[in-house]
Amino acid sequence: MAVGANAKVLRPRSVEEIAAAYDVARADGVPLGLRGGGNSYGDASVNERGHVLDVSRMNRILDWNPETGVVEAQGGVTIAQLWRHILPDGWWPRVVSGTMFPTLAGALAANIHGKNNFRVGTIGDAAVEFDIVLPSGELRTCNREREADLFHAAIGGFGMLGAFSRIVLRTKRVYSGDLWVQGVSTRNLREMMDYFEAHKHAADYLVGWIDCFRGGDASGRGLVHHARYLEPGEDPHPEQTLRIAHQELPGTILGVFPKDQMWRMLRLFQHDPGMRLINATKYFMGRLEGMHEPVRQSHAGFAFLLDYVPNWKWAYGRQPVRNGLIQYQPFLPADVAHDVYLELLDRCRRAGHVPYLGVFKRHRPDPFWLTHALDGWSFAMDFPVRPANRESLWKHCAEMTEIVLDAGGKFYFAKDLVIGRSDARRFFPAVELAAFEALKRELDPEGLLETNLARRAFLD
Ligand SMILES: Cc1cc2nc3c(=O)[nH]c(=O)nc-3n(C[C@H](O)[C@H](O)[C@H](O)COP(=O)(O)OP(=O)(O)OC[C@H]3O[C@@H](n4cnc5c(N)ncnc54)[C@H](O)[C@@H]3O)c2cc1C
Repeated sequence: MAVGANAKVLRPRSVEEIAAAYDVARADGVPLGLRGGGNSYGDASVNERGHVLDVSRMNRILDWNPETGVVEAQGGVTIAQLWRHILPDGWWPRVVSGTMFPTLAGALAANIHGKNNFRVGTIGDAAVEFDIVLPSGELRTCNREREADLFHAAIGGFGMLGAFSRIVLRTKRVYSGDLWVQGVSTRNLREMMDYFEAHKHAADYLVGWIDCFRGGDASGRGLVHHARYLEPGEDPHPEQTLRIAHQELPGTILGVFPKDQMWRMLRLFQHDPGMRLINATKYFMGRLEGMHEPVRQSHAGFAFLLDYVPNWKWAYGRQPVRNGLIQYQPFLPADVAHDVYLELLDRCRRAGHVPYLGVFKRHRPDPFWLTHALDGWSFAMDFPVRPANRESLWKHCAEMTEIVLDAGGKFYFAKDLVIGRSDARRFFPAVELAAFEALKRELDPEGLLETNLARRAFLD
């Protein structure tokens, strides 16, 4: 969200048109970057040196089985389309991101995680099968038995091996359109982590928000949201709560502010004193929330908080590239996470680059070759980017990256704009990276599929 480029965009509607788009790029002698909804925070689907293939027109749900919860969809179907299709039958996607606008293809290519990563893994863990159009134009069907290598490489492979055209996913049975949600304020990072650990076997979702401005004994103070599904029979009126209308977010916030104008309000606070105030207010509101019993909240309301504020990123400036934000999300193994995150927070405050938003999650490993997930934690930090702070912010991130890599941590390309190739080589497992590169050479010998991300951080 602090990067962008102009490119010729090809928008295929079928497998044949994807293959034809490959030929267009080949004939023009330029690389092709795959793009879904363009929701990655960095440059994962930006290609300033060639064309872009946008799959969003391939947006049909091909098959839905409300008995088994298995859905088959084209790659351009969005998470929003998916949940709206399946929820009235009592199902919800197993894994969603904090926004509902990603396509399933973009989500699978990044191997996204949700606030339930510690319980159910990533979207790759929910995938049954996919079709992928290779750079040669050949269509391959992959699952855990058939083309197992390609299955485990392309999920989390950030569009380097081919374009997903069809995806089959398992979804989750739900007995209500609501969740029970409890807010719990925590006085520092240790308390937050202890809360997660104590509840990770019973909670269906856990997510922490952190006030990054506070130091000392209060460093890492914040608010945990703990949610669980309702049991069968617990919701007296599931036929009502499972309706789409029950999920839609209201048009105003607090009944007053039109939500599509909310970014203007947020913009007024886009400086350190303003964000310090917002964070402190949120913390104290969180303490009040923590005194209440759990409340019922719709799945969409809980999952897609940021969608509540349309164009929220404009609060950081309406000229993306020059102004905007970067998200920096280090993942750390469980045994070192606490001390390293405190060190990072301390450095942020000393460097005068305090994240305006900090989000904390618990993760678990998965079998995908280049996955970002591990047995540990992630802490996503949103930093405002302005022409005046860009250089020092990048330097600050590079210093933090050294600390994270020395501690055995890793990063997630859907949320990254600062990692270099030598950094990535330190956190990807060597055997899987070598196997991925061999597959790339075999399937894409001319290097047709490329993005800014790939050139910056990914490929040799
Ligand atoms: C507000 C917000 C909240 C978010 N919350 C989360 C979160 O909680 N968890 C999380 O994991 N992520 C989160 N994200 C990141 C987002 O889920 C991922 O970046 C996701 O990949 C975006 O999907 P997209 O369709 O927009 O794909 P894009 O951003 O357009 O592309 C993502 C990647 O997919 C590749 N790709 C696109 N189409 C295809 C295709 N047909 N075949 C193969 N590869 C393809 C692209 O080349 C690129 O590498 C969030 C993003 C935002 C803006």
